[in-house]
Amino acid sequence: MKLSADQDKCIGAGRCVLVAPELFDQRDDDGVVEILQEQPPPAQLEIARNAVALCPAAALFAEDA
Ligand code: SF4
Repeated sequence: MKLSADQDKCIGAGRCVLVAPELFDQRDDDGVVEILQEQPPPAQLEIARNAVALCPAAALFAEDA
């Protein structure tokens, strides 16, 4: 899996960080998402999918590679 984010779409809701703190963070100045691990380890795949599904701005993407 490869994670990506559209930082122009992100509204800084922080849900991804709550769901998957090891995969996502938010910029200090404006709260926009930053991806910590573009390729989540196997144990984080389900969590990564949940975070993508829960983003209220549809700003996260998971490509199955
Ligand atoms: S859940 Fe979506 S809108 Fe909220 S910080 Fe993460 S990427 Fe941005």
